[in-house]
Amino acid sequence: MIINTIKNLLFDNRCFICASKYLNKRIDFICNDCLTSLMEINYQKSCAVCGHPLLTEKCPSCSKLVKIYFDRFHFIQYYNDFTKSIIYKLKISGNFIVIRLFYKLICNMSVIRKDTDYITVVPDNFLSSIKKGRSGLNYLIFLFKIHGYKTLKNIYKRKFLNLQKQKSKNKSARFYNISQQYYLPKKNINKFSGRVFLIDDIFTTGATLNYGSKLLKKAGFDKVFALSIFRAVIRD
Ligand SMILES: [Zn+2]
Ligand SMILES: [Zn+2]
Repeated sequence: MIINTIKNLLFDNRCFICASKYLNKRIDFICNDCLTSLMEINYQKSCAVCGHPLLTEKCPSCSKLVKIYFDRFHFIQYYNDFTKSIIYKLKISGNFIVIRLFYKLICNMSVIRKDTDYITVVPDNFLSSIKKGRSGLNYLIFLFKIHGYKTLKNIYKRKFLNLQKQKSKNKSARFYNISQQYYLPKKNINKFSGRVFLIDDIFTTGATLNYGSKLLKKAGFDKVFALSIFRAVIRD
């Protein structure tokens, strides 16, 4: 506490989002208000499977997935104007402090068992990793690794050739396309066991995390937990 106060006086630390001086005690680069906005869930009811807000009994999102392969899904916050502004900081100014924040928030969720669970991220090929700023996910898994978590990379892989762009497709083509994008190398079939967390930046239709979970089950894991930083809300 005293150390933090002295540090703040000396370095004039401010919230990286809003520049407020009233920093959170545990995460000393974000203010309490911004942290609250990032953690507070504003929907009364959400789907137990995919986290999508529920207005009726039927989930408008995960009912579109034919079969669900992940055992549970966790996320930090919905994708909204506030969280979009944070992503903007990451993508435009390459502000990796954002990834450090996500790392801390995921740890605070207390869902990952440090000694036994494996952590992996959705793989990417080299080209799209530069294009989409996916290098953030690699930095995230690096943070887990240096803090003593069990991490694995590229258990399943992304094919190099992906000529068509995902956004130009209709939904069924997109689901089909996901299974064309990733593959499990033969040597990894039934190679693993236990629990694994599969992390991605955003859960939209869930197709990417769901297909990844299918491949991780094929790789031998008994339980696959999907985890994304943000959960998009479908508006249609
Ligand atoms: Zn702030
Ligand atoms: Zn759902």
